[in-house]
Amino acid sequence: MAREDYESVIGLEVHAELSTKTKIFCNCPTEFGGEPNTHCCPVCMAMPGALPVLNEKVVEYAVKAGLATNSTISRDSKNDRKNYFYPDLPKSYQISQYDKPLCEKGFIEIEIGEEKKKIGITRIHIEEDAGKLNHDDYGRGSLVDLNRAGVPLIEIVSEPDMRSVEEADKYLKKLKSILEYIEVSDCKMQEGSLRADVNVSIRKKGQKEYGTRTEMKNMNSFKSITRAIEYEIGRQIEVVENGGKIDQETLRWDEVSGKTFPMRNKEDSQDYRYFPEPDLVAIKLSEEYIENIRKNLPELPESRKQRYLTEYNLSEKGANILTASKYLSDFFEKSTKICNNPKAVCNWIMSDIARILNEKEMEPDEIPFTSEDLAELIELIDKGTISSKIAKDVLDKMFEKPEKPTKIIKENGWLQISDEGAIKEVVQKIISQNLQSVQDYRGGKEKALGFLVGQAMKETKGKANPQMLNTMFKEALK
Ligand code: ADP
Ligand code: ZN
Ligand code: MG
Repeated sequence: MAREDYESVIGLEVHAELSTKTKIFCNCPTEFGGEPNTHCCPVCMAMPGALPVLNEKVVEYAVKAGLATNSTISRDSKNDRKNYFYPDLPKSYQISQYDKPLCEKGFIEIEIGEEKKKIGITRIHIEEDAGKLNHDDYGRGSLVDLNRAGVPLIEIVSEPDMRSVEEADKYLKKLKSILEYIEVSDCKMQEGSLRADVNVSIRKKGQKEYGTRTEMKNMNSFKSITRAIEYEIGRQIEVVENGGKIDQETLRWDEVSGKTFPMRNKEDSQDYRYFPEPDLVAIKLSEEYIENIRKNLPELPESRKQRYLTEYNLSEKGANILTASKYLSDFFEKSTKICNNPKAVCNWIMSDIARILNEKEMEPDEIPFTSEDLAELIELIDKGTISSKIAKDVLDKMFEKPEKPTKIIKENGWLQISDEGAIKEVVQKIISQNLQSVQDYRGGKEKALGFLVGQAMKETKGKANPQMLNTMFKEALK
């Protein structure tokens, strides 16, 4: 059978670090970085007898995430101990949630071409992060840093509803943007505040039962996630095609070789000996509490997109690109408020800014200039101070060093020439140098005008006001 005869099945377990100020069971700061073991106390270092107290904000953030993903919020929930030994886990158990998660049965909508598809969310639960082992800096073993121990996480478990790499990529991007919009996580994948366990299986098309899955843990870039899924689908098909069978195991993705390697057999939940956390009380939420959070949810990507279509008349494509990133979308709105030209702001972001970000492999939040600067650039074009061609050069410079567009234009002598006398001079010069084109134009060849204007632009290094050139050539050639 060929590759096309198989279908892939993908499910994601996404961990997002919550951006609460303090940890989930103590008052230590959650701030990233800091000298090792300085954001710690007896609770998150697991001193005997230290007692956890649940941070209310963590519950609030998780409920927000649940509501924003159409989940049912459980009014009766609890914490459980998940027991395992690892040097980054000083208690030898993680406080998580087992059979009564805070949120269940939600979904996220993704767009595949023109079609919308719902990806089910099985559950969202709260848990604590582990510490960090530093292997690299010290030749002889590992050192444990507990700054991250007890940082709150939500785990968002999807149904195995995705059928292609593209669907998995879209789902994760949508989930990330929702979490950013509701401001419960900064979702910085480079810093590990958003990471995914990727589960992949294959089955023959038309087959009802799922195949055996493998799992790749702790993936933290879109690029490696898509590459890893792609590779794993191919590997599984090959195994099955060669008469083998897939083992349920945890794999390690190796970025350099672009392959997956077995890490360990998959553990079952019974291996963890889950039991209710005796040091914490049950989490009981009132209907009123939940409704209050629902009422105060900020605008989500989908409704913001609709608003862009109606309020600003943007194209579907433009609205999609802008709202996919909260950062870009906020950037767009701030610029638009100042320069009052939504179409232009959208176009600059979608075309030139997106292109440069792509070339420089930068994320939107790394744009080195402000929304005010972009608004200023667009106003300068709208007022005729610079041509849009020069504006592209200005933008390039804005990516190089943070300076106001006006300053860049002055420094480089890029002001548009709108002085009538100066333009007239250029027009006369070009006419005298291109008598053939002048004849053509007078003989009815409209195109020749474009050529002359082009020559004048060249002469002035793109600085002449094109509208003025147009009218003044027409005048002169009457
Ligand atoms: P755990 O990995 O902790 O044992 P689950 O059994 O709940 O947890 O499954 C975890 C993830 O694996 C879920 O996101 C689910 O959608 C996905 N999954 C389950 N079965 C399959 C399968 N046959 N193929 C691909 N993904 C699957
Ligand atoms: Zn602490
Ligand atoms: Mg798993």
